[in-house]
This record gives sequence, C-alpha cells and structure tokens, in this order.
Amino acid sequence: MLGEQGTCKNLARRVFIKTYGCQMNVYDSERVVQLLQGCNYQVTSELTEADLIILNTCSIREKPEHKLYSILGRLKRLKDKNPTLILGVGGCVAQQEGERLFKKSPHLDLVFGTHTINKLPHLLKVVEEKRAKVCETTMCESGYLDEGVFDASSQKVSSYVSIIRGCSNFCSFCVVPYVRGRERSRPKEEILKEVEHLSQRGVKEVILLGQNVNAYGNDLGSNGGFPRLLTSINEIRGIERIRFITSHPKDLRDDLIRCFKELDKVCEHIHLPVQSGSNRILKLMNRGYTREDYIEKADTLRRVCPEIGITSDVIVGFPQETQRDFEDTLDLMKRVKFDDLFSFQYSDRPMTHANHFKDKVPSDIKRERLGILQEFQNEYSLEKNKAVVDKIEEVLVEGVSTKDPHCMTGKTRSNKTVNFMGGDSLRGKLLSVKIKNAHLHSLSGELV
Ligand code: SAM
Ligand code: SF4
Repeated sequence: MLGEQGTCKNLARRVFIKTYGCQMNVYDSERVVQLLQGCNYQVTSELTEADLIILNTCSIREKPEHKLYSILGRLKRLKDKNPTLILGVGGCVAQQEGERLFKKSPHLDLVFGTHTINKLPHLLKVVEEKRAKVCETTMCESGYLDEGVFDASSQKVSSYVSIIRGCSNFCSFCVVPYVRGRERSRPKEEILKEVEHLSQRGVKEVILLGQNVNAYGNDLGSNGGFPRLLTSINEIRGIERIRFITSHPKDLRDDLIRCFKELDKVCEHIHLPVQSGSNRILKLMNRGYTREDYIEKADTLRRVCPEIGITSDVIVGFPQETQRDFEDTLDLMKRVKFDDLFSFQYSDRPMTHANHFKDKVPSDIKRERLGILQEFQNEYSLEKNKAVVDKIEEVLVEGVSTKDPHCMTGKTRSNKTVNFMGGDSLRGKLLSVKIKNAHLHSLSGELV
C-alpha cells in the first residue's frame, strides 16, 4: 500500500484519458487531468502520442467491463512498440478487480481505485522511477475524499460539482456501494467555494452530482441538508442554473419538491429512476418504495411545478420478472409519461444480492422486452417534445452543434436539447428560442 501523496517533476509528457460510464466518472477524470497537469502532463487526443494512457472504468453492467478487456488487449500492441508507455486503469472496475487486473492484462502498470485518485501523482512516480507495477485500491470509509476546490472550468458553460460520494442503499442489482463505498457528503463550505470559483471562471450552470443527492447531509447529521444546500447555491452570483443528478424516489420529500418552485435557479428537471413498475420486483430490488409511492411523487412534482421534465431509468429482465411484472412497468410509464428514459437489460454483477437470485430471465426475453419498452417510450418522448412546439423556451447555449457547424446547441430549463442557427459568440448566453420542430431526442427552433 502507498500511503502518502507525492509529486512528480517530468518534462511535459502526454496523457490520453478515456472515460466510461456515469457523470461521476467524467468528474473524476477531470480531477485526474488536473492532478496530472500538476505533474507536467498535457492531455492528448491521440493514443499514439501518449506517454501515459488512463482508462477510467465503469462496472455498473457487464458490457462496459467486457469492453475494457478488449481495449486493454488492443493497447498491448502499443505497449509492445513503446515499452516506456505507462498504462493505468482507474474507476469502478479497478476498485472491483484490484490486483487481478494484472493477471488479466500483464502489460498494465497501474491500477488505482475510486478512493485513491488524489494519490495518483505519487503512484505514478513509483511506476516511473521503479518501473514497478502499482495497485492502490484502499477505501476510506470516513470523511469525504480530500478533494479541495478543483479547477476544471476552462471555457465551460456548465460544470459538474460532486456533493456526495458512494451509496448506502444497496439496491440488490447494484455494484455502486461495493466499488464506491458508503454515502459520504462533502462539506457544504467546500461545495460553495467550488461553485463560487466556477462562477468566477464564467461557468453559468452547475450540475450537482451524487448517486443519491437527496441524501446529502444525512451522514453529517443534517437532515434536509440538500434543500438547504440548494438555497445557498441559489444565492451565488453569476450562476444562472442549478441541476442535480440523481434523486432517489424514496428520499424525495416535499421540501425538495418545493425548491423547484421557490428557487429561481433550480431548473425544472428531475432524474428520478423508477427501475420497475412492479411492486414485487421493486421489493426484490430493495428500492424502498412502491409503484403507488412513485406515481404520487410524480403527480406532486407536476402539481407543484407543471413545467417539470421527469426522466427515469428502468431495468428490464430483473431475476423473476414475469410478463405481468413487465406489463406493470409499461403501465407505470403510461401513467407517468416520462420526458425521456434510460433503459437497460438486467446484468449480473459480482458482490450484489441479485447475482444469487434464482430464475434469471433469458437474454432473448430481456432483449425483446427492452425493444418493446423503448418503442413505448419513443412515443412519449416525441409527445413531450411536441408539446413545446410554438412555445418560447429559455435556452442556455452550450456550443456549436456536433452535427452542423452553423448550428448552436443548448438546453431548455427542463433539459431538452435545442438546436438553432447561430454563431459561437452566443456560447454561454441565456437566450429565448421559439421552438419550431420536435424530434425524438431534440428540438429545433429560432432565436427570438
Ligand atoms: N443512483 C441511481 C439510482 O438510484 O437510481 C442510479 C445509479 S446507476 C449508476 C445508473 C443506472 O444503471 C441505474 O439507475 C440502473 O437503471 C442501471 N443499473 C445499475 N445496475 C444495473 C444492473 N446490474 N443491470 C442493469 N442495469 C443496472
Ligand atoms: Fe445503486 Fe441503488 Fe445506490 Fe442507485 S441508490 S447507486 S441504484 S445502490
């Protein structure tokens, strides 16, 4: 184990970093880049130019994990050509597999876990100086990771800010509590300092991150800490919009719902993963709410804030899911009508309870259910998008569209993507856009 932090003083070298999975990994990769810049590494987008390659991994489902092994296989060829190249794996697969990764990929040099990002400069120094393999996956279960205020804001309109790490919910399908540890809230002063710093750098929107943001502050002995945190961020000058992901339905209370109405910067969007519409499956999943609870909360959200966009996650083919259970999910979707939905086939994960459940659903049925569910959702997504045609929406302009260089792209307050004709000078501006057309995953409009 390597217990201290260190620095390395190389001449400018290049790091290629690839991020898999959720927004928390994107945020962590930004921290990795910042730490490496302090060690004279510059980011490159060319694999072949890199002195250091870091893969920041995701193990939420089996597929991304498999992808990692195939990429590591391909990277071996690069390492054969350039033996001084350093290959590192971080994130959830690194935390889950630790030293075993060296057995699977003997050309790997460095494995660092979800709690050891801050030690990266020191770990890298050991690899560089001793040409030794290094694995550091110690988990720290008390206090927040020593993150400080970090600066990943250059040129950004919108920036992630981590507020709570890990998760203590132990949904039976989910690997997060095992690879990211228990819930730990970040001290409020540190969050506010980071948001202020971002605002001074021109950031207009912050997206507060956590596996269960509603639980923010509970481990610090301050129930209701999240609405209070939102209230404080709402007062920071320069920040125009506040978003947060992810909210857990069991912890969504009225004080948070009121924030959508009372705090002007809190955008009218909530990502509220339901996972299933069957009470039997929700119980097996250990989600802590029923379909009726969920529907009631969705109704309350829409009553308090009629413009709110509600998006969700669903897993199909959870062990023991019958056709009837699946139909209950479709029925809930019909009832709630999500603005958008992320849907997944259930995937067995090591360490989780569901991994040991009997009566796994065969892959062809999972695939078929996923197809049906996605078609179902397409109808609602389009319907929700059509509902804003001819309306004027406030759009925060994020940049030039990747599909058309003459088009700018941005988001409405309810998190819908809008494309419209315009130039790069509009970046970072809050503009009024009249919506002309609705598509499945976006809107197009004209500046008014
Ligand atoms: N914390 C969030 C919540 O409580 O819903 C979710 C976090 S997880 C990173 C994102 C999504 O991945 C989950 O909402 C779930 O739909 C999906 N997921 C997690 N474990 C899965 C598994 N074993 N198989 C399939 N999908 C899974
Ligand atoms: Fe995983 Fe459940 Fe925690 Fe979300 S709330 S991260 S699904 S254990």
